[in-house]
Amino acid sequence: MTTLVLATHNAHKVGELRRILGARLGDHELVAYDGPDAIEDADTFEGNALLKAREAFAHTGMPALADDSGIAVDALGGAPGIRSARYAGTRDDGDNLRLLLTNLEGVADRTARFVCAAALVDADGEFVVRGEWPGVVLEAPAGDGGFGYDPIFRPDGQDPADGRPRSAAELTPAEKDAASHRARAFGLLVEELRRRHG
Ligand code: IMP
Repeated sequence: MTTLVLATHNAHKVGELRRILGARLGDHELVAYDGPDAIEDADTFEGNALLKAREAFAHTGMPALADDSGIAVDALGGAPGIRSARYAGTRDDGDNLRLLLTNLEGVADRTARFVCAAALVDADGEFVVRGEWPGVVLEAPAGDGGFGYDPIFRPDGQDPADGRPRSAAELTPAEKDAASHRARAFGLLVEELRRRHG
């Protein structure tokens, strides 16, 4: 059995990743990394995910996984992007979401995507991959599941037979896990883990 460290302090992301990876990892054990945080000063999702995974590998010597994620809005040139967690300057999900709605008032093109870069760093080297989840930013929040920008993001590709299109905060955890940027990125990362660690 291989022990993997997961370099994130965001409890929501840890929960999602335990669900996503738990189903795919079989025997591998996943532990939370509790050492010093990396300074996230890269200018891409991939760069920041690698910084976090490198830091965790350097401190533990164990294969380290990390992600960096956010929402990129086309009409805002990809903002808030890598600044999604600190968009409003308070690190509060509600403040961030309200600021995004304010910045999109009167904007017709509301296309956006959630982006997740997933990184693996171990003795075999560095690996990073990206997953995207396209959709639109709603005019107002809907639903109370999920976290972050979920209540104002309506993913594309919902079956009309399901009734009214739902925000990401109205999907069940299993529905979010089947489609999300995080599930896509970590699905690819698990393939690399298998190549390295069986
Ligand atoms: P990170 O911890 O630096 O990767 O910041 C990610 C930020 O992007 C979070 O604080 C959320 O605001 C947003 N975000 C990332 N993934 C999701 C998601 O699945 N749903 C809603 N918001 C997300």
